[in-house]
Amino acid sequence: MSKKILIATDKPFASEAVKGIKNVIDQAGYELVLLEKYTEKQQLLDAVANVDAAIIRSDIFDNDVFEAAKQLKIVVRAGAGFDNIDLEAATSHGVCAMNTPGQNANAVAELAFGLAVYAVRNFYNGTSGTELAGKKLGIHAYGNVGRNVARIAKGFNMEVYAFDPFLSAEAIEKEGVKAVKTVEELYSTCEFVSLHIPATAETKNSINYELLNKLPKKALLINTARKEVINEAEIVKLMEDRIDVKYVTDILPSNHAEMAEKFAGRYFSTPKKMGAQTAEANTNAGIAAANQIVDFIKNGNECFRVNK
Ligand code: NAD
Repeated sequence: MSKKILIATDKPFASEAVKGIKNVIDQAGYELVLLEKYTEKQQLLDAVANVDAAIIRSDIFDNDVFEAAKQLKIVVRAGAGFDNIDLEAATSHGVCAMNTPGQNANAVAELAFGLAVYAVRNFYNGTSGTELAGKKLGIHAYGNVGRNVARIAKGFNMEVYAFDPFLSAEAIEKEGVKAVKTVEELYSTCEFVSLHIPATAETKNSINYELLNKLPKKALLINTARKEVINEAEIVKLMEDRIDVKYVTDILPSNHAEMAEKFAGRYFSTPKKMGAQTAEANTNAGIAAANQIVDFIKNGNECFRVNK
């Protein structure tokens, strides 16, 4: 019998993405089932009952969903984060859970430069700004987004440095980026620092006064990572003490009102996380999810598995 692949999205993919996914599913000889804009959990429970695979976005896959999905072998979150999937429940029901890392990385990287140019041109207030060319950019975490930031930074003629304790210096330097040994070295060397660390026990609150105070004069911190990594109280103190420092972020801080009031002209936040919000990222992630499902069913490839 043909395999059934469900797309379950309460916030649907763009129609281009659905077309691309359907194409991959058709070519594999499988059947596509579409559940979009559902409003009740029961609709999701009914839809998963007889499918072999599911592609989701921020849809919640909890124990009830896995309980109802008797045939399900794989669920793929089209996107990077996967905290909407109960990984333990997936494992206990014998389901492989995956994400699609890297598919939105270029979108996020481009936004980092949008924010950087906006900041160095004084938020387009009509006054004379500075350029990115010739400046030192420090990439804090050299993963999928960090790598794309490095690629674009070279086009801006920036001098690119990176710190990532999980990668060898050779792996970073073969891409024409200078690897630094410590995070302190990154911050004391670069007047531009772009954050790409995940929020982990180790990184939460780690961008603090002591670290930021190592930045050279007229520094800019760009955050397209997570707000949890910033020590919000200490960045306020730092920006009070260092009137030369600017901060731009794609992740609205908890203390946004205070930041906006105290640091007008040196601080900007997007109102809502926008890094991955592009038509291309949406389509890429959906199609990657479909390809990963086909590769899993046909070849047993589990390389993007996120549960045990
Ligand atoms: P990734 O998993 O590809 O890369 C993360 C990198 O961080 C890895 O290279 C890892 O070695 C490194 N790392 C882990 N702990 C570190 C530490 N303590 N110090 C330095 N490096 C460390 O992830 P990604 O796709 O590049 O995403 C990076 C960040 O961007 C994540 O925080 C993610 O939540 C965020 N993100 C934001 C948006 C947005 O819309 N703004 C979209 C996608 C991702």
